[in-house]
Amino acid sequence: MASIHLDRIAHQYGGDAYALMPSDLHFEDGKTYALLGPSGCGKTTLLNIISGLVRASEGVVRFDDTDVSQVRTEHRNIAQVFQFPAIYQSKSVYENLAFPLRCRRYDAARIRARVTEVAEILGLQGRLNRSARSLTADEKQLISLGRGLVRDDVAAILMDEPLTVIDPQLKFELRRKIKQANQHARQTVIYVTHDQNEAMSIADEVLVMDRGRVVQRGTPDVLFEFPATTYVGYFIGSPGMNFAALGPIPQGIAIGSCPLPDAPASVVDAVGSGQAVSLGIRPEHLQFAARSTVGAVPATVQAQHDLGRAYVVDVMVGGAALKVKVARRQAIPTGDTWLWLPPERRRYYLDGCLMDAG
Ligand code: ATP
Repeated sequence: MASIHLDRIAHQYGGDAYALMPSDLHFEDGKTYALLGPSGCGKTTLLNIISGLVRASEGVVRFDDTDVSQVRTEHRNIAQVFQFPAIYQSKSVYENLAFPLRCRRYDAARIRARVTEVAEILGLQGRLNRSARSLTADEKQLISLGRGLVRDDVAAILMDEPLTVIDPQLKFELRRKIKQANQHARQTVIYVTHDQNEAMSIADEVLVMDRGRVVQRGTPDVLFEFPATTYVGYFIGSPGMNFAALGPIPQGIAIGSCPLPDAPASVVDAVGSGQAVSLGIRPEHLQFAARSTVGAVPATVQAQHDLGRAYVVDVMVGGAALKVKVARRQAIPTGDTWLWLPPERRRYYLDGCLMDAG
């Protein structure tokens, strides 16, 4: 496995627009990364620059200390898994999994051991002798995944939305298995997805992309708890983070007409000096409260939506629309009520960027 470094990398497919803005990025040896973002943000371009399928218009790609910018894909010693199955229909499942190892001249015992191990991880052990042609689309994609995971001597494994064609039930199971396999083998994996659940459940570190640049990278916990921008806060989470504009009032700051107690002095100062500050708070962190709760703010419940395992409740606070996520067993008030915004769960954003409001 290798660490991967992209030095001042950028890409334009033609014309002036950057599909990937100039950036320095690195991926540590043995960790699993997810590139997450909406369609067109540059995830595949970045992955393809690492694999060599796209030659970056600017910058250098290094695997450890070796400059591979001019090295062709087939000589970069990487495994790739794509959205759709890339397998030999006429070969058995076993032979499909063994093929990348035979090409590398692994000995027979090592081939058998690796194929058996990967087949077990993916639940393919009972189908090793079947012809690949006879399998379902899901099973064929499992073989593609297996072919990506089977070599233990690659510089990196690059996966581009590999679970897209997989049945939703199996997808859940496979996320767990991919994570397990990576934790066990400590391979360098870069995984492209637009599905935040997939990214957050598989990766050690997630890189959130927007319009050709990485806007934040961090562990799933950090991205959830401390989104660096309102874009990341809204993009991560289901539903995304609530944001409400703050304004000055004589006794401090307010959401519209509703005074917001317990705000840090730096936030009160910024709002007071006319800067664009908004409050960010996760729907999971808002709590319905009794009127007597010190610091609770008045709210009006407008609607509730059943998500299966939880409810999302639409409330208005001082003219701002917020969402509250509550567990199924919890009672949901109707009409006028009170809401508790735990101060330690609040984040403040100045011009869309997280403030240090400590
Ligand atoms: P998706 O999830 O839809 O694949 P993505 O995040 O992977 O999106 P890219 O496919 O990397 O994004 O595309 C980034 C930008 O580059 C987009 O504006 C896209 O239209 C453009 N683009 C991608 N491939 C090409 C190409 N071969 N020629 C010209 N423009 C391209």
